[in-house]
Amino acid sequence: MAAKEFDIPVLPTYLEIPEINEGVMEGDGPFKSSEQFQNPLGFPGEKVDNWQEVAIEKMGELKSKYRSVQVFLDSCVKCGACTDKCHYFLGSSDPKNMPVARQDLFRSVYRRHFTFAGKHFPKLVGAKELDDEMLDDWYNYFHQCSQCRRCSVFCPYGIDTAEISMAAREVLDAVGVGQKYCNQILGKAITIGNNLGLPEPALRDTLLDLEEEIEEETGIAVKYPLDVKGAEILLITPSADFFAEPHIDGLIGYGKVFHEDGVSWTMSSYASEGANFGMFIGSYDIMRKAALRIRKAALDLEVSRVMVGECGHAWRVAYSFWNTLTGVGAGATDEYALKLQNQLDSRYPQPQHIIEYTHDLIQRGKLKFDKT
Ligand code: SF4
Ligand code: SF4
Repeated sequence: MAAKEFDIPVLPTYLEIPEINEGVMEGDGPFKSSEQFQNPLGFPGEKVDNWQEVAIEKMGELKSKYRSVQVFLDSCVKCGACTDKCHYFLGSSDPKNMPVARQDLFRSVYRRHFTFAGKHFPKLVGAKELDDEMLDDWYNYFHQCSQCRRCSVFCPYGIDTAEISMAAREVLDAVGVGQKYCNQILGKAITIGNNLGLPEPALRDTLLDLEEEIEEETGIAVKYPLDVKGAEILLITPSADFFAEPHIDGLIGYGKVFHEDGVSWTMSSYASEGANFGMFIGSYDIMRKAALRIRKAALDLEVSRVMVGECGHAWRVAYSFWNTLTGVGAGATDEYALKLQNQLDSRYPQPQHIIEYTHDLIQRGKLKFDKT
């Protein structure tokens, strides 16, 4: 097959930092969620009347629940090292997309309501009220952060703007100003098991089609097992892998790798989603709800390993949060988490990324490649 032709932009050694263009990214932000998508997640269907009171109360709750949020809010020294590190700033030149300025949208309200100086001398410390204009800015600019955490790598204090964005989005949901895309998807993930809303028969058909296509192309009967009790590996992969290009090529590859290794594996129709949008809306409760489906699937299918397909934020949730959220890995201490920890094979990382697994097979010479 002829290689596709692309215009690949040249990446310069030093990026050009744009001149500041105030307000260039002002706007309404992404589509807002309606009652239909808010309520199933336990959020108000529309902006509540006493939204300022609810928001400040929620901020207080988050500040005491997540120590990192308060530490990040208190420890910025405005050194400026992060200012030109966000791709949203580099691409838009709007100063509110500088990580520190994005944080300041939240920090200024935090100072006004939770610090001595901010309560008594607001102007001196940049403390501001949470009014309609500020709430609109929160909605717009906190949704221009992809929570990539690049800025935190450059901050001498490791301040993670992604966590501030998560906190702001959680407050927004609490007052009834949620984001449609994420909340609609989460509703499907926690009721059907994947972000697409693919029920079990549709998923099974999709996998059968894939098997047929691969056999036609290669002459090898690579299988994509679903709900096989007693399999060794449970693969959790983003549902985009089931239909979208080029994601599906990833899934085709995973099946081939498992086939070549001869390991028994399965996917689950109950938990057929690796991507966890709970992280995007900043809600650990919803994130846990989605992750618990994976725990249940692992327990029900009696697997000894849990593996994750490629997806940046799926892996972030799996690697950084599954342990304490669900017990895939050590951390959580509730009955089912402990049961799962006993069930999973401690000789392997839990969870393990498909790339780690594949890399190990390559190192051991179990995979052969046609490099021609
Ligand atoms: S975490 Fe958000 S603010 Fe920081 S670099 Fe990524 S997108 Fe920008
Ligand atoms: S690099 Fe860190 S300390 Fe410096 S301005 Fe940015 S967030 Fe604040």
